[in-house]
Amino acid sequence: MISMKKLTIKSNTSLVNKTGAWRTHKPITDNVKCIGCSLCAKLCPENCIEMKPIENKPKPLTDYDYCKGCGLCAHECPVKAIAMKEDY
Ligand code: SF4
Ligand code: SF4
Repeated sequence: MISMKKLTIKSNTSLVNKTGAWRTHKPITDNVKCIGCSLCAKLCPENCIEMKPIENKPKPLTDYDYCKGCGLCAHECPVKAIAMKEDY
């Protein structure tokens, strides 16, 4: 029997596990549409979205070294400000 410990990684360790190479699609954020709610940053399973102030408003900044292109951020964004684009 395979131990589940061998199939999963410790949470919040993406910064030592570069997952960007897995990606086939890349999230592109439209900062005009974005309302700065930070939901994408909270939900990202790789913890690779950081909210940064742009013109005094919080906007998401994605670290593509770690974004695996899962699309969760785009799916959950309440104003559909994130689009997934092909990235081979
Ligand atoms: S979930 Fe959408 S609206 Fe909220 S911060 Fe992210 S991109 Fe902006
Ligand atoms: S697609 Fe979005 S939610 Fe998925 S890893 Fe990349 S930034 Fe995170």
